[in-house]
Amino acid sequence: MSHKKVSSTDLANAIRNVPDFPKPGIQFKDITPVLADPHLFNGCIELLTDGFKPGQVDAVVGIDARGFIFAAAVALKLNAGFIPVRKKGKLPYTTHEQSYDLEYGSNTIAIHIDAVKPGTRVLLVDDLLATGGTAAAAAQLLKKIGAEILEINFLIELGFLNGRDKLKGFPIKSLIMY
Ligand code: AMP
Repeated sequence: MSHKKVSSTDLANAIRNVPDFPKPGIQFKDITPVLADPHLFNGCIELLTDGFKPGQVDAVVGIDARGFIFAAAVALKLNAGFIPVRKKGKLPYTTHEQSYDLEYGSNTIAIHIDAVKPGTRVLLVDDLLATGGTAAAAAQLLKKIGAEILEINFLIELGFLNGRDKLKGFPIKSLIMY
């Protein structure tokens, strides 16, 4: 295994573009080759946690489903808890729900009403920022339960969809821009 530091270019080179999935016209960014390579996966988590030390973040919030993979690894690295934001109907206890439009279709996501205590310092993590609807809805849910969002992190940002416009007021970090 190589010990050279992973760059965002290394990650970009590994991400596979799948045209017309799951619908015609969508260029799907397949992150599974990053996950399958321990050097790249670890380097990706290093880059996502850049700027934060253990103790500075109380919880890392991941968005269903690919966001879970990155958020859980970030949480362990920062000695923080992991909080899932799930698709509607999946969380067992009482939830807040938020609906939104996404690049393909629409969706409703949910969080447990007691997922964090008010004032909890959280990072919000997802694999990809497209139109920003998903992350904006997750940020709304976190606001409802009183969490303080320190930063919103993405592996990939589709800059041409201007998702950042829906996340005004939040620090945003993305490792790869298309
Ligand atoms: P959006 O709400 O439009 O920002 O969409 C972001 C969510 O949809 C993320 O959770 C992504 O996993 C997924 N997504 C949207 N577009 C793509 C794409 N082109 N490739 C891979 N995942 C995507």
